[in-house]
Amino acid sequence: SAAAAGPGAVHRYDDALRIEQDRRTTLRADLDGALARGELRLVFQPVVDVVMHRTVSVEALLRWRHPLFGDVSPSEFVPLAEESPLITEVGRWVMHEACATIAALRDTDLGVAVNVSARQVRSGELVPDVISALETTGLPSSRLIVEITESVLLDDSHVIEDLTVLRQLGVRVAVDDFGTGWSSLAYLVGMPVDVLKMDQYFLANVEHDPARRAMCRAVLQLGSSLGLPVIVEGVTNEAVLTLLRDMGHRYLQGYVFARPLEAAQLAAGAWDVRTERSEALPVPAAPP
Ligand code: C2E
Ligand code: MG
Ligand code: MG
Ligand code: MG
Repeated sequence: SAAAAGPGAVHRYDDALRIEQDRRTTLRADLDGALARGELRLVFQPVVDVVMHRTVSVEALLRWRHPLFGDVSPSEFVPLAEESPLITEVGRWVMHEACATIAALRDTDLGVAVNVSARQVRSGELVPDVISALETTGLPSSRLIVEITESVLLDDSHVIEDLTVLRQLGVRVAVDDFGTGWSSLAYLVGMPVDVLKMDQYFLANVEHDPARRAMCRAVLQLGSSLGLPVIVEGVTNEAVLTLLRDMGHRYLQGYVFARPLEAAQLAAGAWDVRTERSEALPVPAAPP
């Protein structure tokens, strides 16, 4: 117990808890205005087709440079933003900024994937926000992918209709963190979905765990049964890359190819793994 750990341990525990709570309170307060102060930015991580040996899209990932705490992870502050209508404002900015950044790239038809929170989808603002972002930036709808989480598909509200409208406009819908939630083959049939993004959970210890490998294979088969491509994210090293590719996984994203890139690096062409990492990329097997 904390008491057994010696005098002062309880205080240290209390202090840690208080600091943690203070941090959350501060972040929650500071988030309001972070956008206006220019503290938010997007970085972009390539998704690689290991058969065609090229980058097919980039995922836009939000970053917050807090004046006191430095870079704060979206895993920490997006949930805080989700507690308030602020997420709608931030989400609108992300959608516009992602489309504008990709539309400004020259000589490419690169796609861009934008994460959209559940609250943002439920707000009913998603369709107008997407239309406005596409119209003002000139990005063709075929180059935009909207990433939602599995739970959003469970809503019986307008959500399914809104996603259907997006697809009618030519925007693709990806299910993020797929495979650990409620989803079943039966449920996914007929859903307005174009892409599955496999949850990183399946990659934990995948090199040494036959069960995880079986799951990676199962997700790929599920996708193929549904006619949906599967993207594996969080591919961190060469061993996992080789394992997945040999399994038949074609679309991979992770540090092994590229860390999320700053907009300036993107504009300089760093999204193209052929030029960035060509010697580190294994040559795919020749098609039969
Ligand atoms: P996500 O959409 O599942 O994004 C994938 C996360 O995996 C990103 O973390 C990415 O940086 C990280 N990652 C990429 N390659 C590797 C790798 O090789 N190994 C490991 N271990 N991780 C890798 P990040 O950027 O910290 O984002 C965390 C989550 O925050 C995202 O998960 C997404 O749910 C949320 N998020 C990020 N940007 C936005 C946004 O603009 N809007 C909303 N609503 N949520 C966002
Ligand atoms: Mg995502
Ligand atoms: Mg994910
Ligand atoms: Mg995630």
